[in-house]
Amino acid sequence: MKVKKIHFSIGTIILFIVILTLGGSYLFWGTRISLYYDLYNTNDIIKGGKAYASMQNTRIDDYTLPAQYNINILKYDISIELIPEEKRINSAVLLTGMLKGEKTGDIVLNFHDGFEISGFTINGSEESYIYQNNFIRFDNYQGADTFLVEIKYSGTPENSGFGSFEFKTFEDMPMIYSMNEPIYASTWFPCNDITNDKALLKIAVTADSNLVTASNGVLTDIIQSGSKKTYTWETNYPISTYLICIATADYTNFKDYYVGIDTLQLDYYVLPGKLEMAKRDFEVNKKALKCFEELFGPYPFYGEKYGIAEFLWNDGAMEHQTITGVSSFLISGNGFFDDFYIHELAHHWWGNAVGPDSWKDIWLNEGFATYSEALYYEYYNGEAALISTMESFAGSFEDTRLYAPEGFLFSETIYDKGAWVLHMLRSEVGDSTFFKILKEYYQTFKYGNASTADFINLSESVSGKSLNKFFKDWVYEGKGIINVDYIVNDYQQGDDYITDIEMLQANSSEIVYNFPLEVRFVYYDGHSEDYSYRINSPVQKISFRSKNIVKEVRLDPRTRLLAQFRDVSSEE
Ligand SMILES: [Zn+2]
Repeated sequence: MKVKKIHFSIGTIILFIVILTLGGSYLFWGTRISLYYDLYNTNDIIKGGKAYASMQNTRIDDYTLPAQYNINILKYDISIELIPEEKRINSAVLLTGMLKGEKTGDIVLNFHDGFEISGFTINGSEESYIYQNNFIRFDNYQGADTFLVEIKYSGTPENSGFGSFEFKTFEDMPMIYSMNEPIYASTWFPCNDITNDKALLKIAVTADSNLVTASNGVLTDIIQSGSKKTYTWETNYPISTYLICIATADYTNFKDYYVGIDTLQLDYYVLPGKLEMAKRDFEVNKKALKCFEELFGPYPFYGEKYGIAEFLWNDGAMEHQTITGVSSFLISGNGFFDDFYIHELAHHWWGNAVGPDSWKDIWLNEGFATYSEALYYEYYNGEAALISTMESFAGSFEDTRLYAPEGFLFSETIYDKGAWVLHMLRSEVGDSTFFKILKEYYQTFKYGNASTADFINLSESVSGKSLNKFFKDWVYEGKGIINVDYIVNDYQQGDDYITDIEMLQANSSEIVYNFPLEVRFVYYDGHSEDYSYRINSPVQKISFRSKNIVKEVRLDPRTRLLAQFRDVSSEE
């Protein structure tokens, strides 16, 4: 997922309030002001100077019950009829699953309260069940190794999170879509809503016959019955519940293809009036596919597709597996939002194929997808583009550590600092080892899930280096960045000139970082020399001896570190 960033100054905040008061106005992206007001709270804006879609993640910890970790769902077979005029759904969900380890146990599923349940069977026979507190459960199951649970229900899905199930309209036509991340799949279907319980999926959506439904995987069937049409989509690749989506609208469909190791179908769904703009903007997908296949390995979902469905989530884009959702404002026709398309495509390697073991590992999704943006710009435009992209991701990141973040699950720290950690890992292990790590990580965990510890272990085994302290400082414990105050002294010693750089780590956390520091010594004739030093103590001195007078020193000239260097020589 990627949400738009807005940089606020005091002036723009005042302007924002004025516009808000007047009402009815539109931002230049054409998004209604009132939606910003709904989604962003004042604290976010003031705290970061940037606004991000905010969502409390306090519920995540108590969203699942221990029994759910003893369940392995193998397949979801979802049939859903949309009744937009009543904002209701009629559904039947058949889950195939098994109990891990123990042969008997409780079958507990996430399922939001409020639906009317008209049928509940286990292995074909009607059973009693408990449906309360947003769970549906059948206790003390004793039967075949593999169980079939079928639940028939109807009602209005509760709209939670980022807008988990929306009945909207576009130009007087219904537009219905889902947006599950992170824990809202159960607002519209019963599921074991745990990131690492991936399953296969078949989903059949029935709606008025003038509406088209896009979903995950491949379209296997379209059946017309009276004034209704049913689109059936199936995927043979395991999918996490948060990546399951439907998008139903008066879509225009257009197709393209990309040739990599095989021919990949590109399957695009856009709202009326968007076709020509979308054709131009979506071209970036092919460039990104080429880049990522070379850097990471083959696209994970050959045989199915890469797709995009425009939807009316006003904040950004979401990497629904093989059918990324993009907000209408992202289709501009001028490629202005390439970074969103690049980011969501990258998630198909990082997040979708290699899923997060739990939401504590969210940086493995968002940090990787964000760094992939920088890698894309480096791939096509060289090192200067890499550096400027990384500079655009810089920040102070004091709010949370990366692993098991406090507060918002999707804060800029998770995205931008996550990207920086990978950039610094690259400096630690060297370019060729770094890209070998990415390829092996993908190869080892694709179609499954990986934890932060899995990534660290793999990085250590590929590089042959102990990276314990690196990940402890940057991922598990440390908040913020490296802050170094330094003083430069130069003097003559015989025929040589000495340049001393005395450094003090003045980090806001207790951490003393251990990092490779490049220093550029610039001479009066304009030429320069770069040397690398290992900085590993709170106070450290570098002494550089040369035959010429050094005019200037530049610390970290290639922007390899998430660090602030402050020359305090004049403050002595
Ligand atoms: Zn993302």
